[in-house]
Amino acid sequence: MQNNNLNNNIFNIDAGLLELAEQAEKECAEQFAEIDRICEINSQKVLKAFADNHVSEVSLKGTTGYGYSDEGRDKLDGVFAQALGGEDAVVRHTFVNGTHTLSTMLFAILRPGDTLLSCTGDVYDTLESVIGIGADYKKGDGSLKDFGINFDKVPLLNNQAPDYEKIAEKAKTAKVAYIQRSRGYSLRPSLNVEIIGKIAQTAKSANPDIIVMVDNCYGEFVEEKEPVAVGADLMAGSLIKNLGGGIASTGGYICGKRELIEKCADRLACVGTGKEVGCTLGQNREMLLGFFLSPSVVANAVKSSVFACSLMNKMGYKTTPAVGEKRTDIIASIELKTPENVVAFCQGIQAGSPVDSFVTPEAWDMPGYESQVIMAAGTFTMGASIELSADAPMREPYAVWLQGGLTYHTAKTGILIAANKMLNK
Ligand SMILES: *Cc1c(COP(=O)(O)O)cnc(C)c1O
Repeated sequence: MQNNNLNNNIFNIDAGLLELAEQAEKECAEQFAEIDRICEINSQKVLKAFADNHVSEVSLKGTTGYGYSDEGRDKLDGVFAQALGGEDAVVRHTFVNGTHTLSTMLFAILRPGDTLLSCTGDVYDTLESVIGIGADYKKGDGSLKDFGINFDKVPLLNNQAPDYEKIAEKAKTAKVAYIQRSRGYSLRPSLNVEIIGKIAQTAKSANPDIIVMVDNCYGEFVEEKEPVAVGADLMAGSLIKNLGGGIASTGGYICGKRELIEKCADRLACVGTGKEVGCTLGQNREMLLGFFLSPSVVANAVKSSVFACSLMNKMGYKTTPAVGEKRTDIIASIELKTPENVVAFCQGIQAGSPVDSFVTPEAWDMPGYESQVIMAAGTFTMGASIELSADAPMREPYAVWLQGGLTYHTAKTGILIAANKMLNK
C-alpha cells in the first residue's frame, strides 16, 4: 500500500509519525470545519468594512510630517472599528508593542484615586511594571501606582472560573474592570467571549459607571464575536499577533466606545490633538493588507494549534486546551515531561521555520525569568507570535507554549519536524 504522505516526505518524517499525523488530522476534521465557518464570517465582516469605509488606492499611501488629513489613517481606524464591532478605533504603527497599547488605554482612562480591578487574577507579566505591582516598583517610576491609582484583583476560582460574586462586590468601588482573555504564558485557561460578556454584565450590574476593558491579545478573530460586541467598552491588542495578519511589522490597536477612544488617542499623542495627526509613513498598506488577511491567517494558526494538540496527545502528552476543546485564542501548551523533549521540540520548530531554520536554539538565562528559557522563532517579523513559534521555561512540568502558523500546511510540517526530532533524541 502506498501511503500518499510518504511520496511527498521531503523532510524524512518517520513513517509511524506520519500515520499518527493522518489520524490526528482526521480527528480534527469537525473542528477544522468550525474554524472555517468562523473564518468565513470574520472574512465577510472585514470585506464589508473595507467596502463601507471606501478604502481606495490613496488610502494605502503614507504621509510624512504632521500627517494632517491622512485619509488612510482614518480609514484604517474605521475598518478596524466596523469589523471588530466597536464604535471607533485607534490603530497605529507607533504603538511599540501590546504592552504599550494596553498601557495607553489604562493611562487614558484612570485618574488619581481610581481603582483598577483585574477580574481575572494576575495580569500579564509586562503589565505589572505599568500598574506598579512588580518587584521593581520604585516611587517616581511613572507607573499607575505612582500616580495614585489603586490596583485590586479577583483571582479565578479553584475550578478556574471567574469569581462573579467577588467581582460584583469589588466592582462597586472600581473605575475600571479589567479582563485578560488569553492565558498568555500562565497555566490558567483562556476565557472565551461568552464568559467575558458575563464578567462585563456582572461588573456593570454592580456599578453602571464602570468601564470594562479587555486585554484581547491572541484572541482576535478566533471566535465570531469580539469582547466589544458583548459589553466590553474597550479592548486592545498587538499587530504582530492576530490582527496584523503576519504583514504588519509593528503596532497596536484599541477599539471600543467613541468617547473613550478619543481619550486613548489623546493619551497616545496629546490632549486636543488625538486622532487628527500622526504620519503613517509607509505603514497603511501593510496594516490594511494584514488586517484583510487576518481572519484567514488566524484560522490557519488555530488549525495548526488544534492539529498539534491532537498529534501530541496521540504521542502521549497532555495539552491545554485539551483535544476537541473550543478555542478562544491561538495558544496551546504541551507538557513534554522532560527537558530533552523540550529542547528537541523547540529545535525542531526552529528547523521547520522559513527564516533562520539553520540556527539551533538553546536554553539560556533570560533576564527577568527564574528558570532558563528556550525560544524558537524563525519569523519574518521579529518576535511575531502569529508566526509559528514556541517557547518554554526549563522547569516542571516541562511545558512548551506553541502558537502561530501563517499557513496551516507549513505549520503542520514544522510541528511534524519538531515531533520527529523528539523521536530521534
Ligand atoms: C502578548 C501579550 C501582551 C503584550 O505583549 P507585548 O509583548 O508587549 O506585545 C499582553 N497580554 C497578553 C495576554 C499577551 O499575550
